[in-house]
Amino acid sequence: MSERIFNFSAGPAVMPVSVLEEAQGALLDFAGTGIGIAEHSHRGGPFEGVMKQVEADCRALAEIPDDYALLFLQGGASTQFFQVPANLLPADGTADYILTGSWSEKALKEAKLYGKTHVAATTAEGNYRRIPRADEVRYSASPVYAHFTSNNTIFGTQWPSEPPAPPAAAFLACDASSDIFSRPLDVKRYGLIYAGAQKNLGPAGVTLVIIRRDLVERRARELPTMLRYDTHAKDGSLYNTPPTLSIYLMGLVLKWIRGQGGLAGMETLNRRKAETIYQALEACGGFYQCHAGEGSRSLMNVTFRTPSPELDARFVKESEQAGMSGLKGHRSVGGMRASVYNAFPLGGSEALASFLKDFAKRNG
Ligand code: PMP
Repeated sequence: MSERIFNFSAGPAVMPVSVLEEAQGALLDFAGTGIGIAEHSHRGGPFEGVMKQVEADCRALAEIPDDYALLFLQGGASTQFFQVPANLLPADGTADYILTGSWSEKALKEAKLYGKTHVAATTAEGNYRRIPRADEVRYSASPVYAHFTSNNTIFGTQWPSEPPAPPAAAFLACDASSDIFSRPLDVKRYGLIYAGAQKNLGPAGVTLVIIRRDLVERRARELPTMLRYDTHAKDGSLYNTPPTLSIYLMGLVLKWIRGQGGLAGMETLNRRKAETIYQALEACGGFYQCHAGEGSRSLMNVTFRTPSPELDARFVKESEQAGMSGLKGHRSVGGMRASVYNAFPLGGSEALASFLKDFAKRNG
């Protein structure tokens, strides 16, 4: 068998080895049933048991109260960009969006198809290097909801905590695709949280939606059955065939997160992993520049560059030769990006830290 290398991919991303090993066996024979997990009917007892456990583990990990429904949907976070306003934004209502990167821009674009929108804050100037300060967030008079992106995968910025609460009856909606369950969160502050699983929760194919139950019932317009949140809430995400294998793997990842000390333990580990890299970047006497400003730096995606695009290219090439994959930055930022999601091992951050110092010494 070939050896595993350090995978810094922004998503789909590294998964815990213990999860992959357990899944190997379950693919052939799930829990002694003689049938592999991907071959079980979603209506049968074995998969129903998986589904129940996954939901219970999500609730326990993130302390999700009973007045929130959990939905396991398909179509990725990109589908939530329009499913949120389609269900919740009436044509004469206003939705506020805080723009901190390309993903928030894409979410805003879809909301415009359904109702009025207002940009409550943006840090586009300077290519999204930072998260807005609380006093820069200007909500409209009575928005239906305020939407933000908790971690900006491409730019490597992350909200240290939620933006200010929106006015009166408005709820907070969050795209948490790239930092869900990477640290404790207070679900009660939100009306809705959504995330594709493929960074912190498992493989691609399932999108977790945590939604307050009163919002499930609030239908802004007639929609096809599959697009309605209440369709999936009523049937426990089993209205149609769910992505069974992805949900099963998400369950194993949740169990693994519990073993790391839950979300608080996860945060401690994630902080160590990210700080190991940030400290190495700072230690190189200005050779590297971080894209994200101090106070906005992500614990999930570390974005940085060397003094020149030529050296960036050499960095990517040599890091690959040293057993580190996926460090090339997104084209809209350039440079490098190290994605160190939940399952990324501390040893990988340490390997990158030494490589950073060595590379700077040789090329500085
Ligand atoms: N939001 C964020 C913050 C993301 O990082 C991504 C994917 N990289 C998306 C949305 C889009 O997710 P999907 O591919 O699951 O539609």
